[in-house]
Amino acid sequence: MTCKKCGAPLHPDEAALHCKLINRGSAEFFCLGCLSEYTKIPIPRLRELIDYYRKQGCTLFN
Ligand SMILES: [Zn+2]
Repeated sequence: MTCKKCGAPLHPDEAALHCKLINRGSAEFFCLGCLSEYTKIPIPRLRELIDYYRKQGCTLFN
C-alpha cells in the first residue's frame, strides 16, 4: 500500500485516517504528509487524531 500522490509506503493508520477525514470508501490513500497538505491540518495534529480515533475503538485502527 502506497500514497496515491507521492508513492511513499503507507502505515495502516494513515490509510485509516484518510478514511476518517476524506472518504470512508476510498481505495487509495494519502500518506501523512500529503494528507496534511490536502486537509491543511498540521502533521502533529493528524497524529493526535490517529490517537483519538484509535482510543474510540474505530475498527479501521487495528
Ligand atoms: Zn504522500
